[in-house]
Amino acid sequence: RFNAMVIDLVDGKPVAGFREITTADLPDHDVLVEIACSTVNYKDGLAITSKGRIARRTPLIAGLDLSGTVVESRSPVWKAGDKVIVNGWGLSETESGGYTRYQRLKPEWLMPLPDAFSFEETMAIGTAGYTAALCVNVLEDWGMISPGQGEVLVTGAAGGVGSVAISLLAAKGYSVTASTGRPETHDYLRYLGASNIIDRATLSEKGGALQKERWTGAVDAVGSVTLANILAQTVYGGAVAACGLAGGADLPATVMPHILRAVTLIGIDSVMTAMPKRARAWKTLADHLDRTHLAKMTRIEPMSALPQLAQDIVSGRIQGRVVVDVNR
Ligand code: NAP
Repeated sequence: RFNAMVIDLVDGKPVAGFREITTADLPDHDVLVEIACSTVNYKDGLAITSKGRIARRTPLIAGLDLSGTVVESRSPVWKAGDKVIVNGWGLSETESGGYTRYQRLKPEWLMPLPDAFSFEETMAIGTAGYTAALCVNVLEDWGMISPGQGEVLVTGAAGGVGSVAISLLAAKGYSVTASTGRPETHDYLRYLGASNIIDRATLSEKGGALQKERWTGAVDAVGSVTLANILAQTVYGGAVAACGLAGGADLPATVMPHILRAVTLIGIDSVMTAMPKRARAWKTLADHLDRTHLAKMTRIEPMSALPQLAQDIVSGRIQGRVVVDVNR
């Protein structure tokens, strides 16, 4: 028997709580994995606190990410002893996820543990960090940002996506402006490589449709008025990778930046991203993420701390990333 964080429907509402289960309670997928660790992303916080309707099927084990070792496999692709990671693919939404000691998974969701990282490091990166790498890759593919020229903006800077995005962009030589609401994180953000820091309040008041051009590119984890202002401040031909809604799911914007400045808004989804793009994002992380930065942005917590961690992340109180030890 082992402990898992299960989301159940109580009086028509999803409620998360710990429950003792056995492998007989797991889904009937082909690969059984013994989990080493998981992590806490913003969406995990929404799922555990029920602030967002994340679990669309119940009962369901929560947790978007996991890393661990294959114990049994009915698939020819994986064998006992293989070290693997999983990010997304509907875990915690329509499929059971990583907050448990064992999980059964579909073979096509698994990726080999990248050589460059330990189990803990892959979860220190997690969906948040891998999404930051997806954002950096699309902005580079867009071709507008270039090291030494112009500013790249990162919002939600002291959070998980933001921290990894800053470290990656700075390592690649870009000049990074970090937008944060927490003055106490300024030293941390400079340490990760931000050369400028702005108060997020400067982006959260509704502004004009076209504002002074400031950003060649941006990674936005915030959405809403913030994203509308970023688009209005993006230089001619620039691009913004939108991945988050920490400030709201609306987008009160106009078409003006798009039709007068050829600004592009690029949507990023990490959950159903195809394997080749995932592999490329993990290679970006392996090649450019400073391991000392990663250690500095990460703390390890026991699974028993999840209810509090979930409250903290949806309230914007977590700095960087949290690895979850599923055995404690
Ligand atoms: P996180 O660690 O909580 O980071 C979010 C950060 O946003 C906070 O640390 C805070 O940064 C800022 N923030 C919080 N509330 C805000 C508000 N009301 N207004 C403005 N800024 C606010 O969460 P995360 O795991 O990095 O995820 C960040 C966002 O990306 C979430 O919305 C998440 O759902 C989304 N996401 C999407 C994908 C995808 O596939 N599209 C994947 C991963 C994450 P400061 O304190 O520095 O201001």
